Amino acid sequence: MSTPAATRTHCPYCALQCAMHVETGPGGAPATRPAEFPTNRGGLCRKGWTAAELLGSAQRLTRPLLRTDRDSAFAEADWDTALDFVAERLMRLREQRGPDSVAVFGSGGLTNEKSYLLGKFARLALGTSRIDYNGRFCMSSAAAAGNRAFGLDRGLPFPLPDVGGAEVVLLAGANPAETMPPLMGHLAGPRLIAVDPRRSATAESALERGGMHLAPRPGTDPALALGLLHAARTEGLLDTAYIAARTSGFEAAWRHAAAFWPEQTEQVTGVPAEQVRAAARLLATANGAYVLTGRGAEQHAKGTDTVAAWINLALALGLPGREGSGYGCITGQGNGQGGREHGQKADQLPGYRRIDDPAARAHVAGIWGVEAADLPGAGLSAVELLDALGSETGPRALLVFGSNPAVSAPDAEHVRNRLSSVDLLVTCDFVMSETAAMGDVVLPVAQWAEEEGTMTNLEGRLLRRRAVLAPPAGVRTDLEVISGLARRIGQPEHRFPADAGTVLDELGRASGGGAADYSGVSAERLEAGEEVFWPVPDPAASTPRMFLDAFAHPDGRARFAAVGHRPPAEETDADFPLIATTGRLMGHYQSGAQTRRIAELAAAEPEAYVEVHPETAARAGLAEEQWAHVVSRRGTTLARVRRRADARPDTVFLPFHYGGAQAANNLTNAALDPLSRMPEFKFAAVRLEKADGA
Ligand code: SF4
Repeated sequence: MSTPAATRTHCPYCALQCAMHVETGPGGAPATRPAEFPTNRGGLCRKGWTAAELLGSAQRLTRPLLRTDRDSAFAEADWDTALDFVAERLMRLREQRGPDSVAVFGSGGLTNEKSYLLGKFARLALGTSRIDYNGRFCMSSAAAAGNRAFGLDRGLPFPLPDVGGAEVVLLAGANPAETMPPLMGHLAGPRLIAVDPRRSATAESALERGGMHLAPRPGTDPALALGLLHAARTEGLLDTAYIAARTSGFEAAWRHAAAFWPEQTEQVTGVPAEQVRAAARLLATANGAYVLTGRGAEQHAKGTDTVAAWINLALALGLPGREGSGYGCITGQGNGQGGREHGQKADQLPGYRRIDDPAARAHVAGIWGVEAADLPGAGLSAVELLDALGSETGPRALLVFGSNPAVSAPDAEHVRNRLSSVDLLVTCDFVMSETAAMGDVVLPVAQWAEEEGTMTNLEGRLLRRRAVLAPPAGVRTDLEVISGLARRIGQPEHRFPADAGTVLDELGRASGGGAADYSGVSAERLEAGEEVFWPVPDPAASTPRMFLDAFAHPDGRARFAAVGHRPPAEETDADFPLIATTGRLMGHYQSGAQTRRIAELAAAEPEAYVEVHPETAARAGLAEEQWAHVVSRRGTTLARVRRRADARPDTVFLPFHYGGAQAANNLTNAALDPLSRMPEFKFAAVRLEKADGA
């Protein structure tokens, strides 16, 4: 592997998409070092610093692997054999059981080009409606709430550096100090109000710098948001002129907030009434304020309404659609934004178009050279799709791209059972993830620094991902895999190009006129260093700040949502007396399939743990460092006890980056949000037990 002189690209992991140079490091292996860029300002977290290690890892896959019997070991195969095998099995299933017998599972980590081509491949080559992706687990609730409130969802509808100019920033269920450390540089100036049941690193930082930490009981965030709205109105702090001029639906929303006096809010959430009043005052009287939400607000069976309650608060204070203030969602996955715009979501076509919109279908069908009637309708959301696998009417084959649902999906043991039940499980990955290891075929694909493409970061900013190195012999890109399979299924070659530039051109045309319009995006603009934020309807356009004149609803107004508080999908009881919440660590990313294979990161956080209040641990007879079983109504997880005096006695926390017996998602609840279809990762009723013999 030879690395050329330093080449600028972006980190393979989270949505901050920090800029970095990849160059030859000590010993001749590729290495990363930070580059100047508005989101990271010359910083990287430890994941970024170590990202190059996996490029030359002995653990990466470089040959297609195939087996015809899951009780036997994988054997190496050549690409023609592997792709012929997959295509033949897919076609046979389609013939015998219809197109919806085959399904595709994508990822918020895929480039825009891959996301687009994967959606086209599913709908056109396979003819299936069964496509969805792991972004459903990430920020679908914020997307649903943003669309409902503003008529359009873009994670941050403003450049991230804007936030640094505010006086106050409220972070609801976001822990960037742990998950996106360079983002904290933007929060150095404002006072922070951290809303989190845990005393997270971000909450610590808020307190150290004169801000606040509001710690609601898990699952009660909507009540807290309603309480803040109530307190602000009672003290005459709402922006009534803004509400009248730029919004609709305030009175209906207020009817839900009217009962949430600070004392009532305290009863439901546990946050002292005086803190509720003080936080409302701090936020409402700031000269410039932002409300930002993260996974803690979103990953609930009421995630859309929870985010909506925070948006209602922001609207009532007149924050969105103005320079120097606003509402935004901190996207998680690397291409969490672009990945949800171009067709790998069950209900969407490219350009953020709805698949049930006749005009959208006609437009996209025209670009694809087919009739609108040829396109399937809406499919199943991720959890529902995984749940249907192997059933009489469900998919019997699953193609997985860049995702590891055996670890990352809720109620993971059930998901692993469903994955084992299909006739054909094919995974495209560069390591043997837990999902890949369960399947029939594993196709080794290129990594981030070995391929061209574009990503859309948390600000809606388009970025160029550059091929720094050639992939190892025997490895292909995801685009080449999709193209090769499509050809074998009988599609003309020109319909599924493997070249990222050609795909980007077509994506631009397909998204043109849609909400997420990329028709003016070009590799040349990005190469020239232009700042390009979508929508980009022409080659000179860029939209760094949205909604300054009007929101995207036809009347130009933002809409309050009439949302109240409701309990979680399950409650604690005598058998399951504790609440489990899950979250991320600085050293790992998503299911950990990549970061657990990087020596420094694996050494820092080698195994699952459960964070427990000392009294709670003592009641369960558990000592520090002892292995425990955490047991929910769905399954059991093995985790090492870490006692924390500042933890809530009623709540335990588990990172979700580990697989098998240590998978936190063995515990989590697949109850779904009615709008976003987000599962309830953040609230599971559990108990602690000693893990004998562990
Ligand atoms: Fe930046 Fe995120 Fe990569 Fe860390 S993981 S270097 S915060 S993009």
